[in-house]
Amino acid sequence: MTLSIENQNKLDAFWAHCVKNQYFNIGYPESADFDYTNLERFLRFSINNCGDWGEYCNYLLNSFDFEKEVMEYFADLYKIPFEESWGYVTNGGTEGNMFGCYLAREIFPEGTLYYSKDTHYSVAKIVKLLRIKSQVVESLPTGEIDYDDLMKKIAADNEQHPIIFANIGTTVKGAIDDIHKIQKLLKDAGIKREDYYLHADAALSGMILPFVDDAQGFNFADGIDSIGVSGHKMIGSPIPCGVVLAKKKYVDGITVEIDYIAAHDKTITGSRNGHTPLMLWEAVMTHDKNEWRRRIDRCLELAEYTVKRFQAAGIDAWRGRNSITVVFPCPSEHVWKDHCLAISNGLAHMVLSGHHLDHDSIDGLINDVIADAQKKSA
Ligand SMILES: *Cc1c(COP(=O)(O)O)cnc(C)c1O
Repeated sequence: MTLSIENQNKLDAFWAHCVKNQYFNIGYPESADFDYTNLERFLRFSINNCGDWGEYCNYLLNSFDFEKEVMEYFADLYKIPFEESWGYVTNGGTEGNMFGCYLAREIFPEGTLYYSKDTHYSVAKIVKLLRIKSQVVESLPTGEIDYDDLMKKIAADNEQHPIIFANIGTTVKGAIDDIHKIQKLLKDAGIKREDYYLHADAALSGMILPFVDDAQGFNFADGIDSIGVSGHKMIGSPIPCGVVLAKKKYVDGITVEIDYIAAHDKTITGSRNGHTPLMLWEAVMTHDKNEWRRRIDRCLELAEYTVKRFQAAGIDAWRGRNSITVVFPCPSEHVWKDHCLAISNGLAHMVLSGHHLDHDSIDGLINDVIADAQKKSA
């Protein structure tokens, strides 16, 4: 079967659109500098990772071996012994967050989930889907959770089993909730460690913090119970994906038997993408830690350069510590539309990602924002 000429033209036009715009992206944190040509030949196979990579599966075209090695890599990166962890390659950060919240709800069915106003919108969906009791906590101007309001709400609810949804890099401001502080406040309030659950939403910063010298707390050694990360953000991939990792002892309680493929399933979906584990595997096998460090350093340096240029021009721009997200007052509509900037509540942001290689690649945008601000104040 071949396409009609009309449909072929339509597809070719979309190809041209993708080629032209592949590096357009600065409002969203997707790195576009990946190269998985080595994996293109696998697109002819129906690879499916239904079930658990750790168990025998009757469906032969799975990439479980690769998925397992991806999980070993992330267990090491997030400081949990591999044997004490379990996780899988997800469809993205949202699924990882849902998995973490699901585990928490199974452990504390009556627990209330606390998340800040700056939390990603998907969490409001997750609490509805899972029917978890929840409370929205105020945020600080930096985008961090308001610690006093968090503790006030836990006390007012007389909540014995709080589920804390911590942001490790918020979507709009790149803010990182201080999980050491949260744990200390919970301890001071008399809530024992085994009586609360702490999930880290590290969609973006989960691939930044392991590679900086002065990282805020975010990993298992810092006290979390689970973590979700996006694969299509800092790492970069042509198909949305991610990783979720949790303490194994919690996961054992949620296993479902699937008799017709002779497997056990702990994951959220049935069929699972078998190609994305290959991509994440290739990404982590082809970049050593020094390369990630260099890449993150470059993004951080470009973010700092952007802040300095804006500030020098009188624009009130800033970024959080270890954040590649630069926040500034929303420019005129034609500027944010021309450059596909993400805007929210009067703020715009730029995310300096893997494919932003040098000042030249962002100067055009910076100059436009500065010119716009100067026109407005003239
Ligand atoms: C992007 C993002 C998500 C959602 O991740 P997806 O991969 O888009 O599902 C969740 N939380 C934060 C903080 C994000 O930035």
